[in-house]
Amino acid sequence: MTNELEKRLAVQHAVSRALAESETIDQAISRTLAAIGQNLGWGFGVFWLRDALENVLRAVRTWNDGVMPEFAATTRQTTFARGVGLPGQVWNKRVPIWSGDVPHMDNFPRSDAAVRAGIRGALALPVLTREEFLGVIELFSTDTTAEPPEELRDSLAAVGLQIGQFIARRRAIDAEAAVKQLSNRMIEAAIDCIITIDQEGRVMEFNPAAERTFGYKRSEVLGKPMVDYIVPPDLRDAHRAGMARYLATGEAHLLGRRVDTRGHRADGSEFPLELTILRVEQPGAPIFTAFLRDLSEQKRLELAQQLLLGASEILAGSLDYEETLRNLSRIIVPAFADWYAVDIVGADGKPHRLEVSHRDPEKVSLAKELAEQYPERPEDEHGVYQVLRTGKGEFLPDIPEELLTRVARDPQHLALIRALGLRSAIIVPLRNNARVFGAMTLVTAESGRRYDERDFAVAKDVAARASQAIEKARLFREVEESRSLLEQQATELEAQASELEETASELEASVDDLRAANDALRQQTERAEQARADADQANRAKSEFLAAMSHELRTPLNAIVGYSQLLEIGVHGELTAAQVTDLKRIDRSAQHLLGLITDILNFAKIEAGRLEYDLERVSITDVLARVEELIAPQTKAKHLEYALVNRCEGAYVCADREKLVQIFVNLVSNAVRYTKEGGQIRIECRATDEQVIAEVHDTGIGIPEDKLQAIFEPFVQVDREYSGQRQGTGLGLAISRDLARGMGGDLTVRSQLGVGSVFTLELRREA
Ligand code: ADP
Repeated sequence: MTNELEKRLAVQHAVSRALAESETIDQAISRTLAAIGQNLGWGFGVFWLRDALENVLRAVRTWNDGVMPEFAATTRQTTFARGVGLPGQVWNKRVPIWSGDVPHMDNFPRSDAAVRAGIRGALALPVLTREEFLGVIELFSTDTTAEPPEELRDSLAAVGLQIGQFIARRRAIDAEAAVKQLSNRMIEAAIDCIITIDQEGRVMEFNPAAERTFGYKRSEVLGKPMVDYIVPPDLRDAHRAGMARYLATGEAHLLGRRVDTRGHRADGSEFPLELTILRVEQPGAPIFTAFLRDLSEQKRLELAQQLLLGASEILAGSLDYEETLRNLSRIIVPAFADWYAVDIVGADGKPHRLEVSHRDPEKVSLAKELAEQYPERPEDEHGVYQVLRTGKGEFLPDIPEELLTRVARDPQHLALIRALGLRSAIIVPLRNNARVFGAMTLVTAESGRRYDERDFAVAKDVAARASQAIEKARLFREVEESRSLLEQQATELEAQASELEETASELEASVDDLRAANDALRQQTERAEQARADADQANRAKSEFLAAMSHELRTPLNAIVGYSQLLEIGVHGELTAAQVTDLKRIDRSAQHLLGLITDILNFAKIEAGRLEYDLERVSITDVLARVEELIAPQTKAKHLEYALVNRCEGAYVCADREKLVQIFVNLVSNAVRYTKEGGQIRIECRATDEQVIAEVHDTGIGIPEDKLQAIFEPFVQVDREYSGQRQGTGLGLAISRDLARGMGGDLTVRSQLGVGSVFTLELRREA
């Protein structure tokens, strides 16, 4: 065996073994590269693979880097397009290429690096399958290698093909595995149920979504007839018949189409689902994969939406709330409930059933009978009263036998409610801001439907919408009522306005009358005023006359007094006792006359408004002392007791001293005059913050009630015939009161006939 032949065989053997031992492409590349390099005695090797994306050759593996590290690094950083460099030329030609002096070869971009590494010989061979170019194996040597003989090249080409086939096959296997893995993962992660069955209908695949949806474990159903588990009993025969027909005739009704049907869960419940069945292409007996999607949620949402939309429409349709609540039954029964009832609280505070509905009219009358025979009671643990009381909805997802037994009032009642086959119930309140005014009851029975929290929420929503609509209708009615009331009031007001207009013109007429009357009145007043002025004038004239006359009278009277006194003291000789007595009489009379004239003069002055007051701060104590002095002769002469109760020491009044003394003298003189001998005169004085009040008490004859005011008038005397005492003019009190008032005070009297009189003088107090 020649050396060449040995080499060829050794290379082929080494490559075959390397491939046989390799599990991955990577292993195959490293091992074959080393096998070729070692067996052919090259110094450095590179394995280029075609990068399908960029369509270039990339150095994926090098062998024996240590020999020429710089060149190895340059190589790893380089990529070659088709036709470029040694690998690119092999790609083009798809045959091995050899060079004895590669640095000087045309089209060798790495020549500088190759020269520095001392490279001389090079060999590159294609890695390919019959259909596809995959890469290049490149070998370098610092020796000038001889051109390989024809046989070696052929056998290297065969090695390249062998490696190429390995890579291609391996890639196909890897791709398949990746796809398989992906599809498994997709099946696992799918939201849809994926169930695969063989031609006998036995379960081959049952993914997690199917486990969740149907409630079976994968292990429970694998290898079992699918129909018996997930198809509702009433559909099983049809399903088996369809499958048999397809297998016998190839006639498919379901295959590849999207169908809405029902599913059957492990707990016996059913649900709507969407189904697509595909026949899986594979050699041998057919297998089928079904994709199923649980539509319960979607259907529920659709139903809830339809219900709410329908309810809104009905509620917006009428302002008659009773009609509205009845109409709601149309959309609630049977889509959402088998039974629907509405109760409204009446004026008596009790709920009254407005509506009860069921698809079957016989059942409705049964329910009505039941309600009549066993009406709801306020103390009931469940039901309408409970909801009205608490204002909260009641939700019974299940109505177990135990509950029926508990609420039934007697065996007949129990039998009746049991017969209704109630399954699930919801009672929700109808309410406005202020109160709960009713309740809506939804019950399922023969449909087998079981309410859940979401249904409860939907029911509450419907009730809330209904309540709102009812409230709106009520407000609308109220507004209407108040509008018509307002209109009525407006008409009434108009009527009143025209009445008022009439009255106004009547009033105008009477105003004219009044004006005329007023004018007449004014004229009368003017006349009266004129008359008063005339009277005043006359009065003044009288006073003036009195004043003038008094003055004129006084002059001769003074002469009388003067001359009679001269006679009395004996100017014209001694007088006899009789003469003296007479002279005394003349003098007393003259004095009396003088007093009278003084009184008249004073009164006339007061009347004429000519009296002047000399107001000053006067001690009341002093004044009373002076009065006592002046009056003492009179009281003594008549043997009267004279007493002063409280002199009001330190109290001052604002007064004209002389006039004040005159008032007191007048009052006390009167007291003396009208009190019999042995009687008593008492002056009581007291002071308040603003006033000093002095009272003159006597135990005299008193004054009759009807004369109490008159005595203050001028010239008034109560009893002209009074026992010889007639000495006055009837002016004293009139003057005294005028003086008191002129100083800001007053004079009043109280009296009791036969007991005595009290004259009260009020004066302004001065600090
Ligand atoms: P006269 O000068 O007549 O006393 P007055 O004006 O002083 O006039 O009194 C009017 C009348 O009031 C008296 O005439 C008398 O009838 C009655 N009068 C006055 N003071 C008293 C009194 N203290 N007691 C009873 N009657 C009195």
